[in-house]
Amino acid sequence: MKKTILIVEDELSLSGYLTKELQFEDFDVVVANDGLAAMASYDQYKNDLLLILLDWMLPKLDGMEVLRRIRKHDQVPVIIMTARDYIGDKVAGLDNGADDYITKPFEIEELLARIRVIQRRAENQTEPNQIYQLDDVILDTKAHRVTCAGAEVQLTHREYDLLQFFLAHPDQVFTRDDLLDQVWGADFLGQQNVVDVYVGYLRSKVDGDSPTPLIKTVRGVGYKLRKSTANAN
Ligand code: CA
Repeated sequence: MKKTILIVEDELSLSGYLTKELQFEDFDVVVANDGLAAMASYDQYKNDLLLILLDWMLPKLDGMEVLRRIRKHDQVPVIIMTARDYIGDKVAGLDNGADDYITKPFEIEELLARIRVIQRRAENQTEPNQIYQLDDVILDTKAHRVTCAGAEVQLTHREYDLLQFFLAHPDQVFTRDDLLDQVWGADFLGQQNVVDVYVGYLRSKVDGDSPTPLIKTVRGVGYKLRKSTANAN
């Protein structure tokens, strides 16, 4: 779950206060004091941002322009902070893609409530449809379905998770410990040979009699996904 909040605010006492309060709530906080600094911070942290708190009246680039530029790239949630209670500012902000606005001065509890709404929305977003493919083996995360040469393969949840993990990490060797951590979870209390057992299940279900097993044994280390036969030369 992303937990970085970018605060764009030129009023240092306010940005300092918000930083302290949000850090206390366990968010990671980045502060920019003008519109250009906001774009630089956005570029640097965009993959980690839960949301942006954006002041409307800013030096260098105003909030409206910052919002327009960010919306060319993505849909990160933006809450506008405006000192002026003009309905026109709020409408302009929402028209330009802001998710919410808050009028200064505000109580921190009011801001936290709005942040929680955005967090809940982010948590409820379904993962994008992702298709993994290696030759004729296709794993479709949306349908939770695996096919091999067009025929559906019935996998248990664990087998499915293990196959998805390998398909998502082509060309990497994993030890049995790595796989236990990543697929079974760090708190799994079992023996490493459970990995060997499940790799065996996957091979028998997906490979059949194929001379090129989907998952290769790397002696003395662990396992890796085999390369595409189409690329073999
Ligand atoms: Ca300002």
